[in-house]
Amino acid sequence: MAMPPPPRSEWTVTGLECLVFTVPTDQPEADGTLEWSATTMVVVLVQAGGVTGTGWTYAGAGSKAVVEDQLSAVVLGADPMDVPGITEAGIRACRNFGRPGAVSSAISAVDIALWDLKARLLHQPLSALFGRCRADVPIYGSGGFTTYDDATTASQLELWVGDWGIPRVKIKIGESWGTNTERDLARVKLTRSVVGDAAEIYVDANGGYTRKQAVRMGRRFSDEYGVVWFEEPVSSDDLAGLREVRDHLDIDVAAGEYGYDETYFATMVAAGAVDCLQADVTRCGGYTVWLRAAAIAGSRGLQVSAHCAPNLHAHVAAAAPNLRHVEYFHDHHRIETMLFDGALDPRGGALKTSDRPGHGLTLRIAAAEEFRVR
Ligand SMILES: [Mg+2]
Repeated sequence: MAMPPPPRSEWTVTGLECLVFTVPTDQPEADGTLEWSATTMVVVLVQAGGVTGTGWTYAGAGSKAVVEDQLSAVVLGADPMDVPGITEAGIRACRNFGRPGAVSSAISAVDIALWDLKARLLHQPLSALFGRCRADVPIYGSGGFTTYDDATTASQLELWVGDWGIPRVKIKIGESWGTNTERDLARVKLTRSVVGDAAEIYVDANGGYTRKQAVRMGRRFSDEYGVVWFEEPVSSDDLAGLREVRDHLDIDVAAGEYGYDETYFATMVAAGAVDCLQADVTRCGGYTVWLRAAAIAGSRGLQVSAHCAPNLHAHVAAAAPNLRHVEYFHDHHRIETMLFDGALDPRGGALKTSDRPGHGLTLRIAAAEEFRVR
């Protein structure tokens, strides 16, 4: 039987460890503007009272240096009940290094680990700690890489819709910076033929189109194949462009996955750039800032959608009254089921918030060791 945690007065963060794993993809992957063959995950483990909290980010290995050189001094000795305060202190400690990218990813992994630690110390599921608006969160299957041949795309779609019963799917388009639009259309057509009329189809150009090109393509996706979600039709840095695409189409325009702080999200929604705001706990500043991003979207009457890392997002997504869904991303499904015990089941098209303490996932150190790079 596990030892009870020490008294509340002794809850102090006494340990912090950062591990980096690089997991090869099962086959080459690309979207409209990037290609990759492996995914790197930076894992943060924090300890207090003999209990371990786990957080991670899908970021470059450089985030480990931020965790160890800048954030550990803020975290060690802190009270794990006061997570937003620790995260704010970490943000301030990194002032001179610039917030976006590796720094915010490191802050995010630490914030998530601390929330998990707090929930485990209190023997509470994370979703209960945040306070649920719903018991389970809708997901959509996400993958459909431009590198896939038709057979691979079809079998992935069949897995999501047929085997797992997920009624929403997303594929990548904008191949080669929007220079292969005929294939984009053919792949959307294939998607509709595989998933049938009932499933929602989403497309993600990852900023691969120009403005007018995106309007022309979006009209065809919508009119010919019933696509309802157009993610990053143009660069998410081009807020006026997103707004222009939005103004010309009925299809929902979404962006926000590169948001690393509250100001980014506030600026994006104030520009009228999106119909649904995306936010990623592993980038934006962890659970602490994700909840603020959801509130920023809600303040403009918008929904929020959680970007990737489904096993981390489910718990906080359940706390957002304006949640649309969580992205069930192929790569992260693979990694989170390979390297952790306790991954959530996608079948039925929704993730049920776990009744286990914290987020309920535990790193399988021995299984992960072959992928460890630092
Ligand atoms: Mg995307």
